[in-house]
Amino acid sequence: ESLDKGLEKSKESFFNKLGKAVAGRSSVDDDVLDELEEVLITSDVGVDTTVKIIERIEARVAKDKYLNTDQLNVILREEIAGLLEENNTTDGTDFSLPTDKKPYVLLVVGVNGVGKTTTIGKLSAQFKKAGKSVILGAADTFRAAAVDQLILWGDRVGVPVVSHGMNTDPSAVAFDAVKRAVDEQVDIVIIDTAGRLHTKVNLMNELTKIKKVIQKFVPEAPHEIMLVLDGSTGQNAFIQAQEFTKATDVSALAITKLDGTAKGGVVIGISDQFKIPVKYIGVGEGIDDLQVFNKVEFVDSFFK
Ligand code: GDP
Repeated sequence: ESLDKGLEKSKESFFNKLGKAVAGRSSVDDDVLDELEEVLITSDVGVDTTVKIIERIEARVAKDKYLNTDQLNVILREEIAGLLEENNTTDGTDFSLPTDKKPYVLLVVGVNGVGKTTTIGKLSAQFKKAGKSVILGAADTFRAAAVDQLILWGDRVGVPVVSHGMNTDPSAVAFDAVKRAVDEQVDIVIIDTAGRLHTKVNLMNELTKIKKVIQKFVPEAPHEIMLVLDGSTGQNAFIQAQEFTKATDVSALAITKLDGTAKGGVVIGISDQFKIPVKYIGVGEGIDDLQVFNKVEFVDSFFK
């Protein structure tokens, strides 16, 4: 129910647009497909994924000879669900993590302002609620605000934060956080890192260095590299995904700010273009406003 609420704006907007596009038309012809293409693109599904969806629908129109606009809704829904399925996007409902990996090391990357710190705070709260112990590493050391914010979240949630302050070596922070997790048998380490993008080589080197020091303690770590993207920024989110996936092996996505936006389509386009599962979505600023991505619910809320 809260997902519906969170995504209301995206849903309304997509449906208003789609409704208008097909109003007064009975069959799915080229004009309707052109309108649909525009609706998908203005909903931030992205050009490539939009083209893919349109082609699939064209193929079905060709096969079935005649499709009415109600049927368009049904097959559009099927195609979008199919895309999310192909991209292995989760249909999770809880925040549990593999228990056999201890500590489980999660590296979080993303540019400033996307909601990285907030997402880490919310996730820590959920993991704690699920009975896990958590430690945070403040390795985004280039902005004092980033370190302070993480410490605030740590206090709020009641989890320790390893920090060396601003302008310190990010990998030294990661080293200490993971070492402490091993020493104290903490379940989950979340490392906040790399808020900058403008120097890709630096970013790459920095992440490589962080991985190397972590692996001294936990050879198979990090278990996840999660990229946080702001779902309200449309094309920018695509560009950031492109840059970060070039710099490191991103294995999961968290897409934030899907509450205040008409652009939930970003979830569909990004998971399709980058073949990386969306794991979490942010639907507000509050501590409970993070959800495990559920593709069935997502498609439902888009098409209700
Ligand atoms: P960071 O610089 O990437 O660490 O970004 P922050 O975590 O500091 O978040 C930037 C702003 O976005 C803050 O005002 C957050 O409250 C807000 N924010 C984060 N996630 C969400 C979300 O899912 N929805 C909304 N509406 N705001 C969010």
